[in-house]
Amino acid sequence: MLYFDHNATHPLSATAKRVWLEAVERFPANASSPHRLGQRADAALQDARGRLAKMLGCGADEVVFTSGATEAANTVLAQFAGREVVISAIEHPCVRESVRASELRVSAAGVVDLAELKTQRPALVALMAANNETGVLQPWQAALALCRERGVPLFCDAVQWLGRLPAAGLGACDFVSGSAHKFGGPQGVGFLKCPRHFSPLLHGGPQEDGRRAGTENIAGVLAMVAALEEREAAMHGIAERLAWRGEFEQALGFRTLGAGVDRLWNTAAVVMPEPPDCRRRWVVVLDRLGFAVSTGSACASGKEKPSHVLTAMGLPPGEAARVLRFSAGWETTREDWQRLLAGVRAAQVEATPPSL
Ligand code: PLP
Repeated sequence: MLYFDHNATHPLSATAKRVWLEAVERFPANASSPHRLGQRADAALQDARGRLAKMLGCGADEVVFTSGATEAANTVLAQFAGREVVISAIEHPCVRESVRASELRVSAAGVVDLAELKTQRPALVALMAANNETGVLQPWQAALALCRERGVPLFCDAVQWLGRLPAAGLGACDFVSGSAHKFGGPQGVGFLKCPRHFSPLLHGGPQEDGRRAGTENIAGVLAMVAALEEREAAMHGIAERLAWRGEFEQALGFRTLGAGVDRLWNTAAVVMPEPPDCRRRWVVVLDRLGFAVSTGSACASGKEKPSHVLTAMGLPPGEAARVLRFSAGWETTREDWQRLLAGVRAAQVEATPPSL
């Protein structure tokens, strides 16, 4: 099976798996326990916190480990409940479903328009670093500068950016969320960069300096940090990866969303040809042919409503229903993109009903 669904989940990296296995052996105790085994677990956790903070460019005491980015986003937005929050129209459901907010428009290419922010002073702005459905990069650095001028905190969902582009600088945002399983770490672990004083979403024990109750997932955290460190140290060959994807898109000849703007090097969101209503069928046929691909977003697939991201970009429902997302990993080769091209062509023959 050729895997082109890394934006949904990146398979566990060999490094993360090794670190996870070692950690469950080496750190059997609860990091809150007072005995030496507990202290040893806590020391490993604090070490991982410091290493993650270093990559982000923030203080170690500004990092809270969570069960993933959904929890991180919910935690941030719970702080601002009932206050004026502005989000982009293409935020992940874990942001947009957990707050009543006004939305910033995006262009047809899928880039947020920050002009409206210049006249606003909300309690919080949320802007993702890169969109999960299209890979389109968002101007989070410009948004941060604007927010700074106006004294407004910025929450950046960096889930799809981390592990694909350098983490450096993200720590300047007031809040940042990340999720291990998007960059080769295990599922069910993530983090939130947040201020030192902060109300928890989960109440209970005093873990994470009172900012997130619940026993820490030590093996998960250590594997997550190791996976990100590995990626950060080896972010080479982006230009050639952009070229391989470009060759694929060009040879395919269908409309690619966000084609004219900066996108993650790994993502191609393509409007497939007629017939309509076959969104799931493309995925099923390609699956049968040995390719794991996705509709716009793993979270949206299975829902009949067109994706809010594609709608915000102005795609009519008929076109939005035909968008396929191909998302590569660092290990994806030029030959893999070429095999995918052949696979899509073969699927096209199968997916088109004989009557059309
Ligand atoms: N934010 C973005 C942009 C995502 O793509 C995802 C996962 O699909 C999430 C947040 C949620 O992450 P998690 O799976 O850790 O809850």
